[in-house]
Amino acid sequence: MENKSQSGDTITFLGTAGARFTVINQFLASGGLWLSLGGTEILLDPGPGSIVQSTKRKLRADKLSAIILSHRHLDHSADVNIMVEAMTQGALKQRGRLFAPADALETEPVVFSYLRSCLEGIEVLQEGKSYSIGNVSFTTPIRHIHSVETYGMLFRTTEHTFSYIADSRYFDGLCQSYGSELLIINVVMLEANHPYDHLAVPDAEHIIMELKPKAAILTHFGMTMWRAKPWEIAQRLSQETGVRVLAARDGMRFDLSQLD
Ligand SMILES: [Zn+2]
Repeated sequence: MENKSQSGDTITFLGTAGARFTVINQFLASGGLWLSLGGTEILLDPGPGSIVQSTKRKLRADKLSAIILSHRHLDHSADVNIMVEAMTQGALKQRGRLFAPADALETEPVVFSYLRSCLEGIEVLQEGKSYSIGNVSFTTPIRHIHSVETYGMLFRTTEHTFSYIADSRYFDGLCQSYGSELLIINVVMLEANHPYDHLAVPDAEHIIMELKPKAAILTHFGMTMWRAKPWEIAQRLSQETGVRVLAARDGMRFDLSQLD
């Protein structure tokens, strides 16, 4: 028998909507990623509906060890306060940690000050730093090009590595910073000729080709992506890159043992 950790590593997509219009219309759900990594539970980017989607899927916020914000935009942080309240069992227990860029915590903070004393700690994300949560570690290798301070993450569990490329305009540093077994990438736009600080499908294709992960998952879809059927785009990218590319679905749970 293999000596596997008790619960393995899974990632649940609470929602797959990205940017404004898919989120405000809830054409797709939003709410972030729920990471269950060798028994350590982490919530990443609790956008609008995180409390609804997580409770609906019987994911227990009072088991969370940490909440991580890649950046302060609403589609990544709107439910952070209610999720802190849930993680701290109604703000009655001091437990759990919060990781966020400085600009999510300082002027016009997205996390209410009255909840902060319920947390075991708040850590400010900075470029090139490493952090640990139980048996999981992660780094924020490079600051993204986005209108607010934004980081992606490269996670290491006892069994796997995976990276999360949060919102950014394309730049070559993305291809140099996120090598891992599984790449999760926020692909808001279909076409590359747009004025926004977001990745488009041709950017994702280039990044996947450069990083050559065992698998890649597209998520955080804007309207142009959603209309173009992300699962068809994923299939095309699989053929063109030779990497297994999936489009996330609302509620999809990806088990990282598929990579072994
Ligand atoms: Zn953003």
